[in-house]
Amino acid sequence: VYPPESARWNRLEADCRDIAQRFGYGEIRTPVFEATELFRRGVGETTDIVEKEMYTFLDKAGRSMTLRPELTAGVVRALLEHKLLAQGAQRLYYIGPFFRYERPQAGRYRQAHQFGVECFGVAGAEADAEVIQIAAMLIARYGIGEAALNINSVGDPVCRPRYREALLAHFRPHADTLSADSQRRLERNPLRILDSKDSLDAALVATAPTMVEYLCDDCRAHFDALRRYLDALGIAYAINPKIVRGLDYYTRTVFEFVSGAIGAQGTVCGGGRYDGLVAELGGPPTPGVGFGLGLERFLMVVEKVAGEHAPPRRGIQAIALGEAARERLIAIVGALRERSPEPAFADWQDRKLTAHFKTADRNRARWAVILGDQELALDQIVLRDLIAREDRQLPLAGSAAEVARILVEATG
Ligand code: ATP
Ligand code: MG
Repeated sequence: VYPPESARWNRLEADCRDIAQRFGYGEIRTPVFEATELFRRGVGETTDIVEKEMYTFLDKAGRSMTLRPELTAGVVRALLEHKLLAQGAQRLYYIGPFFRYERPQAGRYRQAHQFGVECFGVAGAEADAEVIQIAAMLIARYGIGEAALNINSVGDPVCRPRYREALLAHFRPHADTLSADSQRRLERNPLRILDSKDSLDAALVATAPTMVEYLCDDCRAHFDALRRYLDALGIAYAINPKIVRGLDYYTRTVFEFVSGAIGAQGTVCGGGRYDGLVAELGGPPTPGVGFGLGLERFLMVVEKVAGEHAPPRRGIQAIALGEAARERLIAIVGALRERSPEPAFADWQDRKLTAHFKTADRNRARWAVILGDQELALDQIVLRDLIAREDRQLPLAGSAAEVARILVEATG
C-alpha cells in the first residue's frame, strides 16, 4: 500500500479510532503471533480457520507458534495475563493485520487487516447493539449504507444442542447428496453447513429448520431486546437464519454487514457474542461481544459505491529555477515545514517549469511558489494558485522565517 492509496488507509484508520473513542473504547495492541494452542481453543477445532487456514511454525525452541488468524483470542489472552477483567467491563478496539492461508483473490488475501471492537463483561443486549452501532456509524460515514445488516441468534449451550439434533435429522437422510465439505461438517458441526456456498447444498440448506424456532426463553428474550435496541437506534436490519459465523465460540447474537457491490467477497464486517470464550481460555466466566471489519473489503466497497474521489489539493510545491534561487528557497521551505502542518513539496532538480508543474499536480499541491533569477532581482517570489491558475507577487524581504510567515498567511 503506497501513496496515494495509503492516504485512504490513513483516513479510514483515523475514522475507526474516532468512532471507537466516541463509544469509550480504548485501543489494545497485541502481538502478531501467539502460541498455536491459543487459536486451537479460542477459534475452535472445527472451524475453517483452524482446520486449514493458519500459518503455523515451530520456533527455535521447538514451540508451535501461529500468525494470528484473527485478533479476539489474543485480546482475551492479554486480558487474562494482565488481570484486566478484575477491573470490570472492558471496551477495547484494535486495528492490525491478520493472516490466513487462503486462495488469494479479490477481497481475500493471506495478510489482511481488521478494525475490531470487543466489549467484555456486559451480558445484556445493550452491548450487542452498541458494537453494531459502531460498525453502522463507520459504514454510514463512508456513504455505503447499501451494506446491509443481517442478524441472527445461534442460541446457547441450553438450546443449541436441540437445534443441532434437528439439523442432523434434517440433513442425515440426504447426507450423500451434500458437498464433501458439508458431509465432513455433518457430525462435527452441522451448523456450519448453513454457511455453505456450495450449490450442492443449497436446496437442503434452504429447507433446514432455523435456530430462532429453537431458542430457549433466555436466548429469545436477548434476541428480542437486541431488536428493540436496534429499532430505538434507528439501525435497519434483516433477520437471516443462515448466518452462523465461522467461529465455534459464538453464542446468541451473530451479525454481518454484507455489501452487494463487490461480488462474492461481500461480507465487510462479521461479529457476534461469545459468552463462553473467556472461560474456554481459562478465565472467569465473562460475557463478550464484538466484531471484525475487513479494511481491504471496506475500502473496495467504498471505491465501488461512493466512487473514487481525487484527494483534495493541499500544501505548497516549491519550485526553484537556478542555483541562487535554490539556495534561498531551501531555507524558506525549511521554515515553512516548521511553521505549517500543510505539506511543503520540493523537487530540487534542475528542470523546466512545466515539468515542475507536473510534479505539483502529481503531489496534488494546492499552491506553487516559484523563485528564479528574475524574481531574485526584483526581491519577489511568485505564488501560483494551482486551482484558479493565477499568479501573485509576494515580497521576498527579510529572513526565511519572515518569508515563510508571509506565504503561510497568503495560502491560509
Ligand atoms: P469469509 O466468509 O469472507 O471467509 P470470515 O467469516 O472468514 O469471512 P471473519 O473471520 O469474520 O471472516 O473476519 C471478519 C472480516 O474480515 C470479514 O468480514 C472480512 O471483511 C475480513 N476478512 C476475512 N478473511 C479475509 C481475507 N482472507 N482477506 C481479506 N479480508 C478478510
Ligand atoms: Mg473465511
